[in-house]
Amino acid sequence: MQHPGLTVWFTGLSGAGKTTISQQVGKSLIDRGYRVEYLDGDAVRQTLSKGLGFSKEDRDENIRRIGFVANLLTRNNVVVLVSVISPYQEIRQEMRDYIGRFWEVYVCAPLAICQERDVKGLYYKVQTGEIANFTGITAAYEPPLNAETVCYTDAETVEESVTKVLRSVLSKLAQDN
Ligand code: ADP
Repeated sequence: MQHPGLTVWFTGLSGAGKTTISQQVGKSLIDRGYRVEYLDGDAVRQTLSKGLGFSKEDRDENIRRIGFVANLLTRNNVVVLVSVISPYQEIRQEMRDYIGRFWEVYVCAPLAICQERDVKGLYYKVQTGEIANFTGITAAYEPPLNAETVCYTDAETVEESVTKVLRSVLSKLAQDN
């Protein structure tokens, strides 16, 4: 039996929890027999989008490249878990229209919490002036207007957020089977 593909697009500030949630959702989907691939912002920027910066133009280009790959995989019955800050509403909408089978997850945490977590030490580097154009501080983040699932990771445990996303994605996949 072929499962239908779907792009699950995690958007949110750096440190909000996109990678953590998508990795665990992916494991559970694989256990259930789905074909899964990950497109993680950090990995993409070292490969497919190497050389791109953080201006609006370069961020949009990064998203279009990710969307191109996500679309190919989705058409081939893969559940694609995209974790990328993707701060601009317009380009996320463009990806939704382009890919079609698109499930947006807003991974929401207040900036202060993300700064406190500082998982990758990036917020510290922003403070010391080593990084410019940083989303949430010196560059905008436009929250989704129509996300299918919202995780409030300052109030939910990782397990609660993962369960919420997994349930919603599984019900979407079951509907379309
Ligand atoms: P991002 O990929 O959005 O930059 P990460 O997943 O790398 O963020 O880091 C998120 C951090 O927040 C991790 O240390 C994770 O353990 C923590 N965290 C706390 N609560 C949650 C939650 N409900 N969902 C996801 N991550 C959470």
